[in-house]
This record gives sequence, structure tokens and C-alpha cells, in this order.
Amino acid sequence: MTDMDSFRQEVRDWLEANCPESMRRPYGSEADLCWGGRNCQFQSEDQKLWLDRMAAKGWTVPSWPVEYGGGGLGRAQAKILKEEMARIHARPALESFGIAMLGPALLKFGSEELRQQHLPPIVRGEIRWAQGYSEPNAGSDLASLAARADDMGDHFNLNGCKVWTSYGDLGDCMFCLVRTDFEAKKHEGISFVLFDMTTPGVSTRPIKLISGKSPFTETLFENVRVEKDQVVGEVNQGWTVAKYLLTHEREMIAASGLSKAGAIPVSKRAVHILGTENGVLHNTMLRADIARFEVDARCLALTIERARDEVKAGASLGATSSMFKYYGTELNMRRYELLMAIGGNDALIWEGGESHDGTMPKSWLRTKGNSIEGGTSEIQLNIVAKRILGLPS
Ligand SMILES: Cc1cc2nc3c(=O)[nH]c(=O)nc-3n(C[C@H](O)[C@H](O)[C@H](O)COP(=O)(O)OP(=O)(O)OC[C@H]3O[C@@H](n4cnc5c(N)ncnc54)[C@H](O)[C@@H]3O)c2cc1C
Repeated sequence: MTDMDSFRQEVRDWLEANCPESMRRPYGSEADLCWGGRNCQFQSEDQKLWLDRMAAKGWTVPSWPVEYGGGGLGRAQAKILKEEMARIHARPALESFGIAMLGPALLKFGSEELRQQHLPPIVRGEIRWAQGYSEPNAGSDLASLAARADDMGDHFNLNGCKVWTSYGDLGDCMFCLVRTDFEAKKHEGISFVLFDMTTPGVSTRPIKLISGKSPFTETLFENVRVEKDQVVGEVNQGWTVAKYLLTHEREMIAASGLSKAGAIPVSKRAVHILGTENGVLHNTMLRADIARFEVDARCLALTIERARDEVKAGASLGATSSMFKYYGTELNMRRYELLMAIGGNDALIWEGGESHDGTMPKSWLRTKGNSIEGGTSEIQLNIVAKRILGLPS
């Protein structure tokens, strides 16, 4: 038996003993996912138990170093854990912008003090982070941001506003881009700062969407005190941190194109709802579309896998994340077009449908935002054209 075989057995035994039965079922909607945070409302005791057990092992973030609360697993071991969780349909114990976005930036650019302060609570799901990047006049052209942090000697004084803050009302803390040099070229006067959203002067206003939900806020700052030791990287060098974080954000969004652990594959759902004739779906067009989708999703998964190996071997993800983000979000939109087609009229029921609770049309509408968040599809295609294909501007 190799080391990896015995590790797989160890993982399998641990999951068997520790993953509650109800956490091994496909989740119905986003509400079933656990985002943690100070005000987290757990859906069930099992959900909390699952998070606590996974966090104690460091397996909410298996590849982060043990000294920051992570699992300290190598790439091969982390892959085994993922496979074993998928095998029993275990849900992810924790979804988190802290894990997917801030953590990698802190590991690369943060001081040791900042890592010690912020990474362990992220692993344990104690703090929920919100992203303060976009502003009313700074979306695709993010470097035009105007929220200003004036140097007051021992701290910064922050004024301005952010927009489209995902779950801004649920966030405990924010990682935020602010202007700290007002004379420098626009990319050179930006700093990347962290602060608690309960700091006096921070307020949020909900933004309602077509789906009827309001997952966004406007976030307003009026004389907010930001401590100087909460700058990630150097003052005025925040653009470098911001860009690095974006590559991780784009990788996270790209994963929306892949089958999520715990979600029912499209083909299985089709068989379940439509039934089969002689072992296959009757509608040949739909059958072909589903097959094409699942093959494309598998190709994306393998390509991302390969890129991760290359990163591990020293390559930078950089512009490749734009390619993944573009393709992954196109795939996720295709997934939901297929799910809507499979569901037929039922899939349109907004509230209290028999086969589902109205989450399907809302999730379908939500996928439209995939092509905008983390940088629009047009911006990703521009990056691919210039930085991967080497085409002229
Ligand atoms: C679901 C979702 C979640 C989000 N969450 C957050 C969050 O948590 N925090 C946060 O800070 N922001 C968040 N955003 C905001 C997001 O980052 C911005 O919406 C995005 O960067 C686009 O900016 P914009 O909306 O200002 O559009 P604009 O930049 O005004 O773009 C408008 C249109 O012009 C096109 N365009 C602009 N420039 C170019 C160009 N150079 N070449 C070709 N086409 C161009 C764009 O592609 C787009 O179609 C979120 C957005 C969505 C949809």
C-alpha cells in the first residue's frame, strides 16, 4: 500500500465517522450552503457540526499551512480529500470569500501579523469577508476608484462608497481598495486595506435585483478609521495585491462551470425528471446538448487541474484565470439553460413549485451575473486576446 493509498483510507474512515448523514445529500439551493460569520444562521445542527469538525482538522482549507489553521495537505492529498468527499456526496463545509480571495492574497502579500490575525478565523468560518472593489464610476476600469483614505498620522480616515458589495449586509469585515495618493497615476495611488464593518461610519444599503433577491449592497464610508497595520502589502502598492486577488476570484467563479460537490449532475436530473426509453433520454436534441455540456465541463475541470499543477511547479496563473473565468461562466449559464429545459413549465414556478421551491428560476437568472462579476466577459476576452494570444490592442 502506498502512502497515498493509506491516506485515502484514513480520509475515508474519518469522513465515514464525521460527516453527518444529512450533509451527504445534494443541496437544494444556495441557502443550504454555509458561509459562516459572526451572525451565521446554521440551517441545522448537522451543518454546524460538519463545519466545526472540518475546521478542527483544517480541512475547510486543506492546502493552507497548519500554522494558520489549514490542513497542511500537499496537492495530491488535497485531491484525494476532494475525491473522497465527492464519492459520498459530502457538501463543502464552508463557502467563503476569505478562503477563495483574501486568504491567497494574505499568504502572498500579508505581514506575518496579518496572517496570524486573519487566516485562522477564516479557516474556522468565524469571520465572513466582503469585497470592496467596485464603485459607481469604477467597475471594468477599477483603477479609477475614488474612495479616499487620508493619512491621519497614526491611522487612515476613509470616505467614499462601494457598490455591488455581495452580501455586504452579512459581512463582518471588508477587504477594500482605497486611494491613498491623490497625485500619483491612477494605478499607483491605491492601497489594499482591511477593516471591521462594525467600525463607526460604515453603513450598507440593499440593492434589489430582477430575481427578487437582494444579495448586494451599496457600502458607504463616512470618516471610517482604518488602522495602519491593516494595510496588505505596501501603501500605494495595492493594485498589485488587487490584481493577484482577482486571479483567485476569477478561478473561484470559473469553478461555477464545474459540477459542485453535492450537486446533482445535469444528466441524472434529466433522467430523474424525464425518465428514459430503452435506457436513454427520449429527446435526442436534449440528450446531445447534455452530453456536449458534460464533456465540456469535464474538459474544463481537467484543464484547470493541469493549470493548478503548473502553478504548483512555479508558473503563474495570471491571465489564464481570465480564460477559465470566461469559459466557466459560459458553462454555468449553459447548465441552467439545460436545467430549465429539463424542468419545462415546472421550472418556471417562482414560489412553492411541487418539484422544487422556486429556486430554479432564481438560480437561472443569477447565472446571468456570472458574466459580469469578477470582471465582465468582454474584459476577460480582452485580457485573453492581449496577454495570452498576443494580439494588438
Ligand atoms: C453577481 C455580482 C457580484 C458582484 N460582487 C461584487 C463584490 O462583492 N464586490 C465588488 O466590489 N464588486 C462586485 N460586483 C461588481 C462587478 O465587479 C462589476 O459589476 C464589474 O466589474 C463590471 O463593472 P460595471 O458594472 O461598472 O460595468 P462597466 O464597467 O460600466 O461595463 C459596462 C459594459 O461595458 C463593457 N466594457 C467596459 N469596458 C470595456 C472595455 N474596455 N472593452 C470592452 N467592453 C467594455 C462591459 O463588458 C459591460 O458590458 C459584482 C457584480 C455582480 C454581477
